[in-house]
Amino acid sequence: MAHYSIAIVGAGPAGYFTAQALQNAQNEDRTFSIDLFERLPTMWGLVRLGVAPDHPKIKTVAKVFEKVAAEPNFRLFGNIEIGKDIDIEDLTSRYDAVVMCTGSAIGRKLGIPGEDLPGSLSAAEFVPWYNGHPDFAALNIDLSGTTAVVIGAGNVAMDCARMLAINPIELDPTDTTDHALATFHGSNIRKVYIAGRRGVEHAAFTAPELRDLPKLEHTDVYIDADQVSEAHARAAAAGEIEKHVASNLEAWRLIAEHPKSGHERSMEFRFLSAPKEIKGNDKVEEVIFGINKIENGKVVDTGETYSIPCSLVISAIGYQAAPINGVYFHNGIIENEAGRVLGTNIYTVGWAKRGPSGVIGTNKSDASDVVDLLISDLKEPKETMDIAMLIPAGHQVIDQSAWAKINAAEAAAGEPVGKPRVKEVSWAKLLSLGLN
Ligand SMILES: Cc1cc2nc3c(=O)[nH]c(=O)nc-3n(C[C@H](O)[C@H](O)[C@H](O)COP(=O)(O)OP(=O)(O)OC[C@H]3O[C@@H](n4cnc5c(N)ncnc54)[C@H](O)[C@@H]3O)c2cc1C
Repeated sequence: MAHYSIAIVGAGPAGYFTAQALQNAQNEDRTFSIDLFERLPTMWGLVRLGVAPDHPKIKTVAKVFEKVAAEPNFRLFGNIEIGKDIDIEDLTSRYDAVVMCTGSAIGRKLGIPGEDLPGSLSAAEFVPWYNGHPDFAALNIDLSGTTAVVIGAGNVAMDCARMLAINPIELDPTDTTDHALATFHGSNIRKVYIAGRRGVEHAAFTAPELRDLPKLEHTDVYIDADQVSEAHARAAAAGEIEKHVASNLEAWRLIAEHPKSGHERSMEFRFLSAPKEIKGNDKVEEVIFGINKIENGKVVDTGETYSIPCSLVISAIGYQAAPINGVYFHNGIIENEAGRVLGTNIYTVGWAKRGPSGVIGTNKSDASDVVDLLISDLKEPKETMDIAMLIPAGHQVIDQSAWAKINAAEAAAGEPVGKPRVKEVSWAKLLSLGLN
């Protein structure tokens, strides 16, 4: 019987699914001790800090994570940043394998003039602000104007647009942070545009998200019916329409045909619109879009432009991984081959490995594949070691019982006000909740 020690870095879906895959792979020949390191005092990664507050069902996957954490071979080391509080070499030399599940948290830049004007920000700032990431709680989001533009054609762009366009009373019973909820209640934004560079048929929104749009109670959603039928014609002309594209096009048709209620709040999709410049004196005043067309299946610039006057621009065009000392990144992800970091005992799973694609469940199959490789690489187990010597002196670790206290305190604060939880957003308060 061989006993291996595995370090997992990052307590998001990839981290927990990796732990689960290791637990499931134990047999009469091998067992694992699993230590999970997380830089924040809170767990569950983007399930807590990404998934939109008005989609609470999706967050119930956290129950699976807590079941994994309750297993006797699992230990949690929260409030520990690898590459800062502990060096990666200290893990690779002591553990049989280290699995980097550190995600992808930095918003990709548009690379256009005016992008840094006040009023222009990334979904990678806006989303953690309303979801209670302690590093983003102090952000000042100005919703005093009437019009916002969200740039991007994926589910993150959709989340940002929906959060801005729905009536904030719909957010009252959710776990949207108190500071964001107050800002949304004071918001003057009534019109939200979502702009995608390519055609309707190319958008990365998924069908369930699109099908939810006509159900919005206080917001009308617009898409040009002609753009939808043109996209359908182009897709059909290119051959058999792929299943997910057909399903999306049908959802778009339903959105276009859905009767509008004359709400003062609306969302409007603009396709074939490439942002060229964000203009304004001291802050965002308009976005200039180039108009694209599709020619022989390719997106081509027509040379024509149009402008949308607005006070807020949110870019949601993808993420790249934040650098970690001692780990080699390439093109925004950890350089890897099918999850192996060649020449090391480091592996990677999730968004750090693949980039920002796939739903939560995608990380489960990813974890299972990488754990199979990891197991096939295992040799003689290393000597067992005392992890306590790696923790900097006086550093507060959020272990599983401390995290359970934070989790319970937030849920208890939510109960009397009819919310799943009231999120604590300050580092100091989170750490002190972990002590009580
Ligand atoms: C805005 C948004 C909304 C989404 N909505 C949905 C949805 O509705 N449904 C769905 O299925 N999927 C959704 N997703 C996708 C889903 O969240 C991802 O597939 C999933 O979270 C990726 O998991 P991960 O573990 O790779 O990364 P993450 O969830 O980002 O977890 C990474 C963890 O690593 C930690 N970490 C980073 N660096 C270090 C370090 N140096 N040391 C220690 N810890 C570190 C981070 O703090 C974080 O907790 C959404 C994503 C976003 C961005």
